[in-house]
Amino acid sequence: MDKYRCTACGNVTRFDVVETTTVRSFHHYTVGGELTIEEPEVVSRIVDSVTCRWCGHGRGVEVTTEGE
Ligand SMILES: [Zn+2]
Repeated sequence: MDKYRCTACGNVTRFDVVETTTVRSFHHYTVGGELTIEEPEVVSRIVDSVTCRWCGHGRGVEVTTEGE
């Protein structure tokens, strides 16, 4: 997972993150037409923006990736 750090204020815990995820899942309908969604799998995830909660902008936000 990505971790964020705001270099402007030092915040590492509070961010507004806007992301777009594409999910593939198995749609299972009963004979009566009721839907059960199974096996959801995230096939892509794009982070659109990260905003520091304290600063109100994302200009100082750095992304660090820890492990995988
Ligand atoms: Zn900040």
